Amino acid sequence: MSKQTLGFNRALGDMADALNSDITDSEKLHLLVRAAARALGVRGCSLMLLDAQRRRLFHTASHGLSERYLRKGFLEVEKSLTGILDERPVTILDVATDPRIQFQELAQQERITSILSVPVKIKGEVVGILRVYSRTRREFTAAEVQFLITVANLAAIVLESGRFEEAERQPPEAKGEPSFHPTPLTSQLNPATFAHPSEEEFARLLDFYQIEWIYEPRSFALQWEGKAAEMFTPDFYLPALDLYVEMTTLKPGLTTEKNRKVRRLRETHPEVNIKLLARRDYDRLLAKYGHGPLAGAKTHGVGRVLLSAPQVQKRVRQLAKEISHDYEGRHPVLVGVLRGVFCFMADLMRYLTVPADVDFMAISYYGGGSGKAVRVTTDVGISLEGRHILLVEDIVDTGMTLSFVLSHLKARNPASLQVCTLLDKRVRRLADVHLDYVGFEVPDEFLVGYGLDYQEEYRNLPFVALMERKSSNKEPQAKNYLG
Ligand code: 5GP
Ligand code: MG
Repeated sequence: MSKQTLGFNRALGDMADALNSDITDSEKLHLLVRAAARALGVRGCSLMLLDAQRRRLFHTASHGLSERYLRKGFLEVEKSLTGILDERPVTILDVATDPRIQFQELAQQERITSILSVPVKIKGEVVGILRVYSRTRREFTAAEVQFLITVANLAAIVLESGRFEEAERQPPEAKGEPSFHPTPLTSQLNPATFAHPSEEEFARLLDFYQIEWIYEPRSFALQWEGKAAEMFTPDFYLPALDLYVEMTTLKPGLTTEKNRKVRRLRETHPEVNIKLLARRDYDRLLAKYGHGPLAGAKTHGVGRVLLSAPQVQKRVRQLAKEISHDYEGRHPVLVGVLRGVFCFMADLMRYLTVPADVDFMAISYYGGGSGKAVRVTTDVGISLEGRHILLVEDIVDTGMTLSFVLSHLKARNPASLQVCTLLDKRVRRLADVHLDYVGFEVPDEFLVGYGLDYQEEYRNLPFVALMERKSSNKEPQAKNYLG
């Protein structure tokens, strides 16, 4: 037996061991790609899966590739190897000269010369590709191609078994239910493999704001100890925001451990953007939409004044001065999202020294459950084509509302689009939208006054105050206390 054949046999033995062991699916996939890269003596190996629309491929488990390379994003199927969906192996001898390569420069910086790519098929259907990357120019032999096809089959077994197990665990009536929108393939492969209902609720919230998510898309090796690795698999990846989100709502006791892993991930993968959503943050996030344990919180009235009326007025005057200067001669349209913004808008308008139009729009808010998506309930009446829009907001929290509103306004072809918000609750940001004018940065507290309400109350306060409330689970759930 040749040395290579021996190596393949050993690698396949290790893979079979891994598949039959008590580790998570992502850990299994990670071990598969690592063993494959080693047996073939190549720089790296990556398993990429198709999204639900079969338009893009995501790195799902990989070994030996830099974070920068993995983060180059997804591959567009259309622009990529025509062979991907043709179900056959494809070899690229030299990435520098092959027109089928989408990230030529990056691949060269990564010192990749040749690529072998084989389809990953589940019961005959292509669900992704498995690729190996060689530093040197390499023509892969028939035996090597066959080995990689076998690894692809093993990966398919891991993916398929996850799907099977989940299907078995679901009550029969739930089986036919459509999955959430949008549904990347990874979440279809493991439908609702959510470890905790709060993760499902979070996924629904993201769906509502049409933010694409992938559940547990990949595992990071934090450190290697001999053969075993310490792995960390963040709960969500939001491709459009290039953000991983780890939720610590599962068991409060695990929080310290998760904090440590997140810290370690930041050390080992400094370019990775990860946000930890603690139980408390999460409950507050949901309470904002009238859900979760804090939703029925009992009000005890207004707490400490955060921004006094003169403070607010002074800052609004300053903002108006800046805006008047910047928009000189451009006759902007100020657009506000109802209802919280009406006080700020009214004052801001009156302090402007340039002519400006004003209009409002209203959008729906997350009401829990699935199937619904955020929509514009009242649209701007003024024609926005070719106009200079200044979107005015009362407060930017997660940024999900704002990013939706911005994409809605962009579609109207304005000449320019900028954002002015009175309050910026930056610590809670998920969608990192750019803010051009900010009145105040505020702490992660529920605020009322100056247009902001709690169940429609307190909008008339001339100042911004913290809400004072006691948590109580027995109270009936508030439906919605947003404006
Ligand atoms: P985002 O989509 O940025 O998470 O949410 C922004 C919207 O949530 C704001 O327009 C506002 O209606 C509401 N919001 C966020 N934080 C607060 C707060 O502290 N108090 C009140 N009353 N509403 C808030
Ligand atoms: Mg608002």
